Parts: sequence; structure tokens; C-alpha cells
Amino acid sequence: AIAFAGKVALVTGAASGIGRAVALAFGRAGAAVVVADIAVDGGHSTAAMIVESGGKALFVPANVTRETEVAALVDKTVSQYGRLDCAVNCAGLFEEGARLSELDEAVYDRIMDVNVKGVWLSMKYQLRQMGKQGGGAIVNLSSAFGAVGAPGQAVYAASKHALAGLTKSAALEYAKEGIRVNALCPGAVRTPMLARALSHEPSMERKLRAAHPMGRFAEAGEIADAALWLCSAQASFVTGHELSVDGGFTAM
Ligand code: NAD
Repeated sequence: AIAFAGKVALVTGAASGIGRAVALAFGRAGAAVVVADIAVDGGHSTAAMIVESGGKALFVPANVTRETEVAALVDKTVSQYGRLDCAVNCAGLFEEGARLSELDEAVYDRIMDVNVKGVWLSMKYQLRQMGKQGGGAIVNLSSAFGAVGAPGQAVYAASKHALAGLTKSAALEYAKEGIRVNALCPGAVRTPMLARALSHEPSMERKLRAAHPMGRFAEAGEIADAALWLCSAQASFVTGHELSVDGGFTAM
């Protein structure tokens, strides 16, 4: 077990799926957890689950595409718990796909706004706070589609490829300040996002499963375990890395 007693963790997109699993894992490992999301009911539920099992948590509603809200989120974290040690940026958007020549500009704008600008803005304020403290760890939720193309999902793939540039550049810029920045690249994970994606195209489930050499999808907890490891002292020399947790998807 990895201990985060006395540590403060901020998780965006923590109302659902991977973000919720990460927040719960931090809670079990003893961290005080700030649960951030635009989804108010889900955010409150995640925080309540942590508190009910004896942990410390606070839900802060925040839209990661709005700079004032992201700045206020980090301020609230520090005013409530005194510092920020670990940040896991899970807020992300996936929409019904189309070939590139059929894709609407509005879809491009929404996906890039949340998946790229949202992560950049989140890191901007997380890095400022961690810089003041002299250290910290950030994990950005990328995807296996941050490494390979996604037919029908070119913009989603582009948004996740962009996270490689943001993550590696941030890792280089802040290495001397003791801040580690890494990306996590999951294959398909059983979450509400995957369920929505498969409901658009039911024939995809079998094909997508077959694309994973392990023959199954990940559980959100398996992604959370990797995120906590990247944030932990056990990963103290790991920075600028993209960690695949994809059952072999990108090894094919
Ligand atoms: P999810 O839809 O279950 O959860 C995403 C959460 O992000 C939701 O609670 C949503 O409200 C929140 N969110 C969306 N826009 C936001 C915004 N502007 N501000 C704040 N919060 C916002 O999805 P998930 O499957 O848990 O995905 C989490 C991350 O993992 C995403 O970045 C996703 O791209 C990535 N990912 C998911 C899979 C998968 O198969 N599920 C695979 C690879 C990568």
C-alpha cells in the first residue's frame, strides 16, 4: 500500500469514472482530497463517499476551461488544506465521432477546450502553488489515442497527442523545482464515458475489445493505481513520462 497521509490531492473530473476512482484511492491512502468537476451531484457524491469511509474530502465545483474558476479551485485547496502535493487532471471530453471531412467546428472547439486548454489551465495554477512549496507531482489523463491515431476520432486523438507536448514541456520547465509531471495513457476503461461511446456504435464493443491483447477493458481502479504510483515517492525519479496502462493496445 502507498501512503499519502498528510498529503493534499486535487483531482479534476472527479465526479465520474477514472477521476472518481482516483479520488477514492487517494482518500483510502490517507490524503485530503479536493474533488473538482462541473457535475455538481456526482462531485458531491464522490466527496461524500470519501468522508463516509473515514477520509477527508471537499467538493469544489469548477469548469477547467475557465481561468478564474481554475485559479479559485487551487486557492480553495490551499485555504482548506494548506498546500497541494498531488494533482491528477482527469476532466475530459469524448464526443460522437465522424470522419475528419465531416466533423463540425463546434465539436473541435469543445474537445480541444476541455482536453487541452483545461489541462494547461489546471497545470498553470497547480505549478504555481507547487513551485511556492518546492515540490509536487502532476498526472495528466491522456489516452492510448495520445500515441496512435483514432479513426473517427481525429480531434480526440489530436487533443491527447497535445497533452504529450504539454506534459513533457512542463516536466522540463519545473524539474529543478522538484515538481514531476507525467501522463497516463489508458486503453478503454469501463466508465460512463466508454458506455456513452459504445452506445453510439454498439458494433464497436467487440472490435475495441479485440484491439486489447488482454481481451478486456480496464477497470477505473486499475488506472487509479497507476496514477497514485506516479504521484508517490516510489516514482521519485519519474518525470516527463507517458505511462501506458492499456492491456497491450499500443504494443500491437
Ligand atoms: P467520464 O466522462 O466518466 O468523466 C469525466 C469527468 O470530467 C465528468 O465527471 C465530467 O463532468 C468532467 N468534465 C468534463 N468537462 C469538464 C470541465 N470543463 N470542467 C470540469 N470537469 C469536466 O470519463 P472517464 O472515462 O472517467 O475519463 C477521464 C479521463 O480519462 C478523460 O480525460 C478521458 O479522455 C481519459 N480516458 C478515458 C478512457 C476510457 O476508456 N474511459 C480511455 C483513455 C483515456
